Amino acid sequence: MKVLKFGGKSLANGKGLETVLSIITDKVAQGQEIAVVVSARDKATDQLESMLERAARGEDISADFQAFKQYQIAGEDIDFSAEFSILQRIFDGVSLLGDYNDKIKDHTLAQGEVLSAKYISHLLRKHGVNAVFADSRHFYVTDSHFGNAQLVEDASAKSTIQYFAQLSQGVTPIVTGFIAANVHGETTTLGRNGSNYSASILASILQAEELQNYTHVDGIFTANPELVSDAKIIRQLSFEEANELANFGTSILHAKTIIPLLEKKIPLRILNTFKPNDGGTLICEAKENIGGIRAISVLENYALVILEGRGLLGKVGVDARIFRALAQAEISVSIISQGSSERGIGFLVANKDAQKAKQALEREFELDVYSQDVSGVNLVEQVGVVSIVGQNLADFDKPYNALIRNQVIPLLINNSATGRNVSVVVHKKDLPKAVNVIHGEIFEISKRINLAIFGRGTVGGTLIEQIFEARADILKRRNINLQIVAIANSRELLFNHKGISPEQYAAFDTHKVPYQMSDLITQTQQHHLENLIAIDVTASKDFVENYLPLVENGFDLVSANKIANTIGYPFYKKLRETLAQYKKQYLYETNVGAGLPLIDTIKLLHHSGENITRIKGIFSGTLSFLFNTYSASDAPFSEILQKAINSGYTEPDPREDLCGNDVGRKLLILARELDLENEFEEVTIENLIPEALRQGSREEFLSRLKEFDPIYQQIKDNAPAGTVLRYVGDLHGDLSQTATARLDVKLVSVPITSALGQVKGADSIFEIYTESYGENPIVIQGAGAGAAVTARGVFGDILRIIGNK
Ligand code: ASP
Ligand code: MG
Repeated sequence: MKVLKFGGKSLANGKGLETVLSIITDKVAQGQEIAVVVSARDKATDQLESMLERAARGEDISADFQAFKQYQIAGEDIDFSAEFSILQRIFDGVSLLGDYNDKIKDHTLAQGEVLSAKYISHLLRKHGVNAVFADSRHFYVTDSHFGNAQLVEDASAKSTIQYFAQLSQGVTPIVTGFIAANVHGETTTLGRNGSNYSASILASILQAEELQNYTHVDGIFTANPELVSDAKIIRQLSFEEANELANFGTSILHAKTIIPLLEKKIPLRILNTFKPNDGGTLICEAKENIGGIRAISVLENYALVILEGRGLLGKVGVDARIFRALAQAEISVSIISQGSSERGIGFLVANKDAQKAKQALEREFELDVYSQDVSGVNLVEQVGVVSIVGQNLADFDKPYNALIRNQVIPLLINNSATGRNVSVVVHKKDLPKAVNVIHGEIFEISKRINLAIFGRGTVGGTLIEQIFEARADILKRRNINLQIVAIANSRELLFNHKGISPEQYAAFDTHKVPYQMSDLITQTQQHHLENLIAIDVTASKDFVENYLPLVENGFDLVSANKIANTIGYPFYKKLRETLAQYKKQYLYETNVGAGLPLIDTIKLLHHSGENITRIKGIFSGTLSFLFNTYSASDAPFSEILQKAINSGYTEPDPREDLCGNDVGRKLLILARELDLENEFEEVTIENLIPEALRQGSREEFLSRLKEFDPIYQQIKDNAPAGTVLRYVGDLHGDLSQTATARLDVKLVSVPITSALGQVKGADSIFEIYTESYGENPIVIQGAGAGAAVTARGVFGDILRIIGNK
């Protein structure tokens, strides 16, 4: 025989009810032997409770009661006069007396289950099933603890077996869940949601093959799917695991429900009424111990109580006093943590009991506070607990680090005595983020990375396209879910916490809204976004003001913008200190040589203790093109400059390239990478613009390019034979002895056969001289400019940050 249990939501009028009827009729038609346990239909229990409450306050509930009756009958030709009359008389009486007790309440709520079981049997009979209404008050015997009665097991088993034995062959009993009776025949209830318990007792007493619990969810998940969108269904659990899950708050399981099944080893299947063929979750005896982490559960509405003081160290009986005081105040304590060295005890109580607990302890420890053995009782209200069932504390470092990286600082960590559970107490506001971070970490479900991209210029635009293109592949190959949650220019923002789609991005102008950085930060917090990376692809001087707030609010940084690394050294240092404090990363490979792995190589050499003695090279793709072409041709300088302008190799105002500041900045960035404390003012830069053309408008400048020609012709003429012109950055000096380097940016002539002389097109080249490599530098050469390679480089930094997570 199988026991089927249906919850209130499944039995609601309409689709639910129809489905339930067809599930039952199908099984009966197949010749299966079943017993059905039902809850009150839809919200009946809540409604009855509220009507009772309101009647006691003398309110008029006739309209509600009318609606209740109508819902319960739902147009059927069924006689509910007995139940309705009981309810009417109770409400009248309660209204008259202005009060009721738990016994009256049980009698009232019980009608919900009675109406439900009668109604279902009536409909089933109409469908040709030989269904009988079975009132569990005839065979479930409890004590008289109304509202949450205890089952008297032997007596209940005996009468249940008797009751079912006298049913005729082939009938399908429809049993009331939740309700029972004491030895005087008075109605009791088994506690809210008690129908599950009713059903597992029935399955246990009747030795059913299986208990099928039909609910409105698909089964048990690795975490509450309402909180964690990546949660996955668990197909099978052992009784022990289920029991632990139940203890830690999985709402569809109740510890009480598992125990009767566990004793008789009766499998429990949790199914969705609306998808009855979906398999659900099966809880049964484990054939082998599968091990590993099974699920995460969440408990809300707790408060953390901390008792601290030097006198607690080694003192005997303190714990006993705490718990006695709390027990006397009828406060139940959940997670307890006692740090031996911290001379303190922390534990959780229900948030509603927090103040009461504090008072009880203050009273108990009044003298100890006076003698300064106890410094006081502190409360942290509104905390929640994330419990990882099946987690070994020894392997907890990964989820723990992930929490810290995401700015969630646990208030308390506790592992159960069996060593297979770890509970983390966090502020309630951090709870959704904490569950998601932990869940992502331990189930290795695709790690979600949330990107905010600032700057919509050519590099920004290319980067966004590259990300959209590569997303599916990265998800498949690396299990990383890259989402762009924000795209912004200096004033406007497009935000979508679920990730911006290419379609939305295409409609940036219609969706964008004006914003301030603080708005964006607030939004990321409201949506509990973890693994945040801010990407600066602006060229803005002001944007760097946002770096510190971004880091402080959980963002790693990737930047193609050189400003943060080239403004004053104090900011440079402050940024790095903040990054270290918040355990955040900041990568900016494209600051020098676009996508070429230059900064990374230098960092690696420097941190591995290799002494870098000099870095020399062609840092600007634009100027590389200019002098490579000029040196190799007889055309006047202005003609080649014009060609560079026309091909889009230069900044809109080419003087930004020609003044040399950009090369100077790159040189400075490398110097600081070597822990040298140079400032930009210390870079000697040879400005390539003739004096007379440095001021004035862009247009005027562009109309006077010919003035370059005599100057550069003369430079060319003066250069020794066999040499070519190159605009070179040079970092040198006695680097191991001083805190700063000599940084020169200048036009030089180099042998045509040298590495620098061999550079072609718009390539960059960097020669890194080190102590071990001596005269032979490490050379990195390639396309050092252009939107596509820069965007690739930025993308590389993003992936590098993810890889380090
Ligand atoms: N109807 C009762 C309640 O809502 C029992 C149950 O549904 O399990 O608590
Ligand atoms: Mg229910």
